[in-house]
Amino acid sequence: MQLNFDPKTVPSPSYVVDEKLLIKNLELLKSVIDRTGCKILLAQKGFSMYSVYPLIGQYLNGVTSSGVFEAKLGYEEMGKEVHTYAPAFSETDFDEILTYSDHIVFNTFDQWRLFKDKVKNHPKPIECGIRINPEYSEIEVDMYNPCFTHSRFGVTLENFEPDELEGITGLHFHTMCEQNSDTLARTIQVVDEKFGTYLKGLKWINFGGGHHITRPDYDIESLIESILFMKNKYGLDVYLEPGEAIALNTGFLVTTVLDTMQNEMPIAIVDTSASCHMPDVLEMPYRPEIVGAGAANEKAITYRLGGPTCLAGDVIGDYSFDKPLQPGDTLVFTDMAHYTMVKNNTFNGMNLPAIVLNTAEDGPKVIKEFGYTDFKERLS
Ligand SMILES: *Cc1c(COP(=O)(O)O)cnc(C)c1O
Repeated sequence: MQLNFDPKTVPSPSYVVDEKLLIKNLELLKSVIDRTGCKILLAQKGFSMYSVYPLIGQYLNGVTSSGVFEAKLGYEEMGKEVHTYAPAFSETDFDEILTYSDHIVFNTFDQWRLFKDKVKNHPKPIECGIRINPEYSEIEVDMYNPCFTHSRFGVTLENFEPDELEGITGLHFHTMCEQNSDTLARTIQVVDEKFGTYLKGLKWINFGGGHHITRPDYDIESLIESILFMKNKYGLDVYLEPGEAIALNTGFLVTTVLDTMQNEMPIAIVDTSASCHMPDVLEMPYRPEIVGAGAANEKAITYRLGGPTCLAGDVIGDYSFDKPLQPGDTLVFTDMAHYTMVKNNTFNGMNLPAIVLNTAEDGPKVIKEFGYTDFKERLS
């Protein structure tokens, strides 16, 4: 991955998002919008670096949110379309959700019945949809499979209530994770077979997220065919709401070696934690690359990299280097923009990495630094 900045010039640890790389992704997504007339939303769950929302808003149509906080953030910081879906809305949050949202997607018909009068009585027109579970997905890990047995996400065909569609203008499905457009094409076929009759009277369909559109081997042409299929067959507006694809390969986590030691193999302790700063490394699990390093045993010397917390499992992985690591050495993890800042935490009193934006004009600029107050404010 291209490193357009000197990692020694940014705070350690810090997440550095590269504007040029982000724009490259946004341009590709915009080309899909331009070629199909679909709308693409940023799924804030994956990437909520709101200092770049104005930039993202120049290319995409708005945001999707999983609740009132994300809806408010998208409304305030991007100011374009705001879509909101949650497995269940609380009465407490719903009034505020109404004020920020243009689209609201309900997970069950019971939720739709509970809130439909509030939607109707709201001064602003709001499009309402139902999330369906087509019971088709190609994800093997249950943790990331919205269609696994007894999934709570969306209404299955058996539980669909066609008599309750008055006021509903669209259907939403989200059944993919980091997948290519061949998976989408097969999913669309199932959605068409199972829910086609209900799509006839509707205005829009939302294909959810999990589309790895900006990955180098992604087949854009087949994505375009799937979008046009739904547009042409049912006259629907098509929405996509990727999170990961927007920030894929646009960010880095810069870290410093604090110490090295031996326990039957060389170990290095760095100033960033898997558990606090890149939790997907433990949850997914996922192995980030390090610029200039190799897999275990590929280069001269292999280290096990661990974080500074007291969690035994706070291990990032085994990486090999051309020469021994020294305290003070800088290491740069790649692809650290999405599902990092949105998931980090201050467990064990860890500070949060600074957030840096690297622009072509000005180089790396620190957008935000964190400290003791951020740790303390979450506790009482
Ligand atoms: C997580 C999520 C997304 C975004 O998924 P990515 O894998 O980041 O593209 C979109 N829509 C819904 C409903 C989600 O839960």
